Amino acid sequence: MKVVLHGTRGAYPTSTPENQKYGGDTPCIELIHGEERLIIDAGTGIIGIDWNRYDPSKRLDILLTHLHMDHIQGLGFCKPLFDPNREVHIWGPKNGTYSLNTRLNRFLSPPLFPVVLRDIPSQPHIHELSQSEIELGPFTIQSNYIVHPGPTLGFRISCEGKTLTYIPDHEPMIGTDELYNDDRWISGFDLAYKTDLLIHDSQYEREEYIKGKIGWGHSCMTICSEFAARTQVGRLVFFHHDPAHNDTRRTQMFEDFMESSNYSFPIELAVQGQEIEI
Ligand SMILES: [Zn+2]
Ligand SMILES: [Zn+2]
Repeated sequence: MKVVLHGTRGAYPTSTPENQKYGGDTPCIELIHGEERLIIDAGTGIIGIDWNRYDPSKRLDILLTHLHMDHIQGLGFCKPLFDPNREVHIWGPKNGTYSLNTRLNRFLSPPLFPVVLRDIPSQPHIHELSQSEIELGPFTIQSNYIVHPGPTLGFRISCEGKTLTYIPDHEPMIGTDELYNDDRWISGFDLAYKTDLLIHDSQYEREEYIKGKIGWGHSCMTICSEFAARTQVGRLVFFHHDPAHNDTRRTQMFEDFMESSNYSFPIELAVQGQEIEI
């Protein structure tokens, strides 16, 4: 299974030249196995996908972790949605109050977007996920709610014995800067346990997190790595870069962190356009 990172930036897209080393587009990743493909999250990163590589006769599945703007911003500019002959399925978190269709329609309708969801030519099929397991082609996808404001899913995707865990927006615990001693209380634990590759929120550095970001729903590099160590992952990718951190700052944060820590698994910063073979 190959993972392509089309968007790695959190919160909002950034086009300043100082932010382009790690990429300016918001979250979107693509999983590829042979001719089979799967998209997760529809941030602005989805806009740059080369759709010529997709067989238009095949169904297109897009999974959404949650509906914060940085994860759906590219949906209205995703070309296949406007092809009436395309079969498109959109999967996202179930919420007890409003259907996924109603919530998506809040964004895909005037005045925020000129076309309402029901008029989008591909007439996408909308599916709700919670603590679920589904099979899409060669991919088995487990989802579960994780700690982040609003209903938010993390995904664990298995394909031919390899696993990817994708939790782009996440704080593994509530109201504290230390992981709980008991694994059962750690949000996302089962999704990440012994996964081959973990792509996880690491928006902040520890100082910044402790001084005023606890409870905002995002992790610092330290928490993210502690979570990865506790769940015994094979490899960790720091994701959801803060747009307020330019390349120089992000690189420095990473180097300082790596100098002061000692983990047994490889850790790297996500780079837009990067392809990772699992
Ligand atoms: Zn986000
Ligand atoms: Zn979010």
